[in-house]
Amino acid sequence: MPNSISDTTRDVPMIEARGVHKAFGANPVLRGVSLQVRRGEVVAVIGPSGSGKSTFLRCLNHLETIDSGHIAIEGETLASTDAQGRCSYAPEAELRRICRKSGMVFQHFNLFPHLTVLENLIEAPMVVQGVARGAAVARAEALLAKVGLSAKRDNYPERLSGGQKQRVAIARALCMEPDIMLFDEPTSALDPELTGEVLRTMRELAEERMTMLVVTHEMGFAREVAHTVAFMDQGELVAARPAAEFFADPGHERARAFLQHML
Ligand code: ADP
Ligand code: MG
Repeated sequence: MPNSISDTTRDVPMIEARGVHKAFGANPVLRGVSLQVRRGEVVAVIGPSGSGKSTFLRCLNHLETIDSGHIAIEGETLASTDAQGRCSYAPEAELRRICRKSGMVFQHFNLFPHLTVLENLIEAPMVVQGVARGAAVARAEALLAKVGLSAKRDNYPERLSGGQKQRVAIARALCMEPDIMLFDEPTSALDPELTGEVLRTMRELAEERMTMLVVTHEMGFAREVAHTVAFMDQGELVAARPAAEFFADPGHERARAFLQHML
């Protein structure tokens, strides 16, 4: 069973998205998406390909702009829309600081191929946060130990398996000491026998009460680790319910059809 999450309603949501709209040209990709994520909550975002899951995730750390709506991270407004429908963002420096509250892990790892594993981990803390090299190395070594890859510290990414690369990518994101972790199909590019080690690492993070938003097709993970399952379809977040409840009754016809197809 997932750990219990904080249920004090006075807690500021870690992520709050309200009425987020986003189009690519004439293609409306997000059509009023709203979601709240509490501290320590693990939310699995599921839904068919093209439903807007990646775009939504990317809007939460400003890798994509939005057309309208409201996004706040730990109570700090990233983007908001006034009564006239004009969308504005936090000032540049603040925006960067807010976005650094979340770390992101992508389907295709996105490791720097010309850097060793250790160098991949210390790059951002040193360059972005101004952490001294010694302290960054200590942080990186601790995280490599945590994901079970201490022995790979001086290897280049090309020498690693897909599962190892993804664990390095997770460690690299954690090296920035984020409060929130965003995962976009972290196991979809992996051979089936390698997904387990990555899911195990994510499960451990969840057990440490990291706040996590995970786009995934792994229904086992969603059922066992996530507190909440959010279903997206055609740019809408159609249903968000406690995981056990969702799997017993997704509460929406399209979600039911999707689930039948997945299980
Ligand atoms: P999902 O992650 O659920 O598969 P995406 O968020 O990747 O969905 O895509 C949603 C829709 O937005 C799709 O129709 C996709 O083609 C479109 N889309 C995504 N990114 C871009 C982009 N950078 N430019 C134009 N269209 C995009
Ligand atoms: Mg996607």
